[in-house]
Amino acid sequence: MGQLIHLRCERCGAPTEASDPPWIRCPSCGSIAGFDFTSSAESPEYAEFMRRSMKDPQGYVKRWQDHDAAVVKAAQTFHKSPEKGLKQAAEAAEFLIDETPWAMPTAAKHDSGKREAYKLWLGFELMQHKLPGKYPGLQLKLNEAAAAVGFGANENPLPAFEKMLDVLREMSDERERLGGPPDPEGLSVEGRLRVTVSQMVAGYIRMVSPDLQLALLRRIYGDDAISAVDISGQDYSVYFDWECPQCGLFSPHVPQADKLTCPGCYCTRRVDFESMDAVAVICHGCGSRLELAAKQLSCKCEYCGSQVKRFVRQGDAQREVIAEVKRGIAAANNFSYEEMMAESDGFGVTPENRLERLRDGLVRIAQWYNFGITPTRMAGFARASLPGEDAVNVDALLADAQAVAAHEVQQGHGDPKAVKLLEMARQRLAGK
Ligand SMILES: [Zn+2]
Ligand SMILES: [Zn+2]
Ligand SMILES: [Zn+2]
Repeated sequence: MGQLIHLRCERCGAPTEASDPPWIRCPSCGSIAGFDFTSSAESPEYAEFMRRSMKDPQGYVKRWQDHDAAVVKAAQTFHKSPEKGLKQAAEAAEFLIDETPWAMPTAAKHDSGKREAYKLWLGFELMQHKLPGKYPGLQLKLNEAAAAVGFGANENPLPAFEKMLDVLREMSDERERLGGPPDPEGLSVEGRLRVTVSQMVAGYIRMVSPDLQLALLRRIYGDDAISAVDISGQDYSVYFDWECPQCGLFSPHVPQADKLTCPGCYCTRRVDFESMDAVAVICHGCGSRLELAAKQLSCKCEYCGSQVKRFVRQGDAQREVIAEVKRGIAAANNFSYEEMMAESDGFGVTPENRLERLRDGLVRIAQWYNFGITPTRMAGFARASLPGEDAVNVDALLADAQAVAAHEVQQGHGDPKAVKLLEMARQRLAGK
């Protein structure tokens, strides 16, 4: 199941389009209406931002420190002359437009009138965070709410999400009360709130199940604006699932990785991300293993009805940047990129030790990714790694993994959240 967003432009009523990704905008008056979470990390501008910050991390930190100091200075000026203070804050805000262009609407970058309007509007808000009003306290509340929403492992984030909306609404009320500059797009308070929230949760929303995505999107844009369509059951922008060719363990990996290491047997492999060969995938709805034939892009899960899709070509922009950085590191240290990317068989796998490798791999997945994967998906890693086995044997493997994880906690170097995740995965496996 996927989602279709049909929004009408708040200003002129025309249907909006996603023709300027990641922005959802009105083709007739140009106003923005939302932020498309499926394309936000794929823009060339984001890749450029990554390239700059990874190549010169100190320069990156310095630029942000200078920016922060400029905002503090503007707030000090504001005490003496509000008009001058706001002007300084607007100049400081220009940094954001140039440093993080991927988060800025196209008009803010290329239309000089809009650019000035955005500078004032952003600058006012930046400065409020440094002034003794309500803003700093509201920001703390917002951070708390965002932390409570979690990173994709929280199965019921809606109450925390509501809290987040409340705080953002309080912030815009406060902006109104203080007489902040007008919205650069001419949006109403509610219209701006939709854009802000959709942008804030763009990264998060990719980590959650399709049902939850639908609930969150309806909450942001309204029930009528969102319809569920049968296109894709999962978004792989955060982690995709990979089947180790040596031990058979399924494990999550970031899409921008250029070489994958299996957490079970530690073999390393370069992967052809454009391959259309037959492949096994995990249903994130129920955790079943499903087989996709060569060239088949998606299928409907025969057990729970979710749409399940193949991972293809996401994160190319970042992958390119990482390869560039690795080439630079290799050249500076007198070895080659090819040596760096060489494959290895890790610990090796035999029929005798395979189950042990799988068990240890599941423990590591639970320890490293417990913040970002659901119990159903965790159960899916075990089920998919033991194709054709009875649920009893899959549960035995998860029980072993849980025991090892619990033992590590007793030894003082494990993570109790990993034990909990494995325990809940066993409950999902048993249909609870
Ligand atoms: Zn319009
Ligand atoms: Zn492996
Ligand atoms: Zn399913």
